[in-house]
Amino acid sequence: MRFHQKPMSSHTMELPRQIVIGEKNIGKVGNFIANLANPKKVSLVSGDRVRKITYEKVERSLTDSKIKSVWHISISNDIKSAKKTQHDIRKDNSDLIIGIGGGRSVDIAKMIAFNLKRPFVSIPTSASHDGIASPFVSIQGNKPHSVTATAPLGVFVDIEIIKKAPKKLLASGCGDLVANLIAVRDWELGRDKTGEYFGRYAANLASMSADIIMENSNMFAKRGLDVRVVVEALISAGVAACIAGSSRPCSGAEHLFSHALDRLAPGVGLHGEKCGIGSIMMAKLQGQDWKKFEKTLKDVGAPTTAKQIGLDSDTLAKALTIAQDLRPERYTILKEIKMTPKKAIALAKSTRVL
Ligand SMILES: [Zn+2]
Repeated sequence: MRFHQKPMSSHTMELPRQIVIGEKNIGKVGNFIANLANPKKVSLVSGDRVRKITYEKVERSLTDSKIKSVWHISISNDIKSAKKTQHDIRKDNSDLIIGIGGGRSVDIAKMIAFNLKRPFVSIPTSASHDGIASPFVSIQGNKPHSVTATAPLGVFVDIEIIKKAPKKLLASGCGDLVANLIAVRDWELGRDKTGEYFGRYAANLASMSADIIMENSNMFAKRGLDVRVVVEALISAGVAACIAGSSRPCSGAEHLFSHALDRLAPGVGLHGEKCGIGSIMMAKLQGQDWKKFEKTLKDVGAPTTAKQIGLDSDTLAKALTIAQDLRPERYTILKEIKMTPKKAIALAKSTRVL
């Protein structure tokens, strides 16, 4: 049975105002921030390592632009330490919050900015997931899946810094990107089976950022990943989520699988690695060419088997079995299959994940 598609009663799109992608441009960040929001004082959230690499250049640049700053170190991304950082940042009395780092610092800064109703700027120093430009955060101890915060007012990227980050982070970013093709198919299912709102523009934009990785993977295998291409694709995916007003175009059953693993085996595998492996299995369930997903991930140097990320078969089976229950309202291919541990193992084996 096919329902008519329900129009959304109200749909707010919040988009980044300015996105800069440059090379060796970290020393110009002060200028960027000044033009964007003209703040007197900013609060920065970063990890220890990133602070060491960027502190001097960022500080000098901010001072040149007459912007005062206070740095905060994010130790872990659990809700308790995020609350502590939020408490400290509130006392800064700053006009803008900057997340500078990989996933964790950007996520924490984004959530704090949302809670304190301040504008937020994202300065990613690795390209491991699409949270760089999206309005969503995943903080441990919150919900098992990502929650809506605020879209960044600006995104500032220095490709040179991202090039120096570990290779597996960039490969993980590709896993998060190919996932979009699973997510969009799940979204179409939701539209067809429940009449859920489906945004074609957002869906196409998210698919396009996955296709660019799929279509160029042969070249990436030969010459290595093109950092700028991956960064642009991840930003586009984040913008697709902004346009959709939900994570729908970038997060389907493969993300539910990844979130289930976050819960069952915290610390095993990176977000994008788990989404990539999940995508191979969900592609098979959806009737997509799962071998194409496997090949792309291999080409970019991302893991395609449970063993490669240190995941055992029992945990994998459990994750597949509980995944849909983590977010019952989100219609995915897993709604159409009564997943059991036995079926889960068979699926993983048939797609060479096990
Ligand atoms: Zn993701």
